[in-house]
Amino acid sequence: MSECLFCAIASGEIPADVVHSDDRTVAFRDINPQAPVHVLVIPREHYDTAGDIAAADPALAAELIRVAAAIAQQEGVADSGYRVVTNTGADAGQSVRHVHFHLLGGRGLAWPPG
Ligand code: AMP
Repeated sequence: MSECLFCAIASGEIPADVVHSDDRTVAFRDINPQAPVHVLVIPREHYDTAGDIAAADPALAAELIRVAAAIAQQEGVADSGYRVVTNTGADAGQSVRHVHFHLLGGRGLAWPPG
């Protein structure tokens, strides 16, 4: 079993409600949704943070955002609006150290975030 929770989800060792899967990315519903649509988009390959993946593989970093936009369309929130956000480090509340983009939508989202 992988020591990284999201590596384990990407490999299928741990089940998740997967809404998208391809050779480089996986997206699945957040287990503790903060909005009617709350999906996490991850690379299959492990990177700790968004900065790390952007430095090492900028095309893959961009692909995560493209996938998020496609899922927003699929989930019916592309027109109403949605947020794609990633947390880095303790002050931002990053609880899983495998880069992930949160796709949030389906309700009005306050700004700035808490
Ligand atoms: P962050 O706090 O930005 O690192 O986001 C991690 C997210 O992963 C949180 O929103 C959690 O609710 C979510 N999460 C944790 N474990 C799981 C899981 N097994 N399946 C789906 N989402 C999870």
